[in-house]
Amino acid sequence: MSRADRRRQAAAAAARAPATDAAGLAARIRAAKLPGTPPELAERARKALAAFVESAAARGVPVAEIARHMADGRAAATIAHVEREQATARGQDPAKGAACAAGCAFCCILPGQDGGTITAHEAERLHAALAPLAGQPDGRAWHPNACPALDPDSRMCRAYEARPLICRSYHSADAAACEANAAGEPAPGARLAGAHLTYLAAHGLARAALGPRGRVETFALREVARAAIEGQDAETARAAARHAPSALDAERRRSGRAWKAARGRG
Ligand code: SF4
Ligand code: SF4
Repeated sequence: MSRADRRRQAAAAAARAPATDAAGLAARIRAAKLPGTPPELAERARKALAAFVESAAARGVPVAEIARHMADGRAAATIAHVEREQATARGQDPAKGAACAAGCAFCCILPGQDGGTITAHEAERLHAALAPLAGQPDGRAWHPNACPALDPDSRMCRAYEARPLICRSYHSADAAACEANAAGEPAPGARLAGAHLTYLAAHGLARAALGPRGRVETFALREVARAAIEGQDAETARAAARHAPSALDAERRRSGRAWKAARGRG
């Protein structure tokens, strides 16, 4: 084997090994590739995730715990939360002007089998909030494709405090457009807040930085809610809802294309 091959092998082995300190973790985030995400979005997520690591380390959080929060999605959710707060402070609250109101739940009629990409921490919280309601009538008694977390009569989310970021990020200026969308007729009006795109990019970067041992997983919202409401325990729910690794990349790329298209129109 040539010296160059040995160097490449050593670099690959170093990339696979867990980072032993926060500086090493931040360096990996800065070096991580995120193909398919527009560079501006990727850079925003990269800076925010590296800052998350450095700030946690400065507060004395052990590197293993920081890595755990990157893997289970708490880091990505924190980043999105901060971005949204900053937007609101600038007078750019993404919910401003939205028609959203309690009991208006066309957005909880979920497309396909998946219903939305959520992280391990979100799956855990959603399951814990719904498990005590197992066996009660759920949103599907109102509409066959409604989220099982929905109350079929009041059409309120029964896991409101634990709802994932995708639910918190979705707004619309026109409830009638949401009703049309739920019926499969495309209509403008609904949008995902920009912070959601940063969250997807940050979770993708966490996966790239932590490597295969990091177990940065995603789950199907609808399946977690269904399993919890049908009385399955958290581990069974996770197994039923676990995404293939490609799902996060596909979601990131889809969102990136939509973001670019929206900017092109703006
Ligand atoms: S996103 Fe649409 S359906 Fe959901 S609460 Fe807002 S207006 Fe209603
Ligand atoms: S978790 Fe709650 S807000 Fe999210 S889709 Fe289900 S019912 Fe709607």
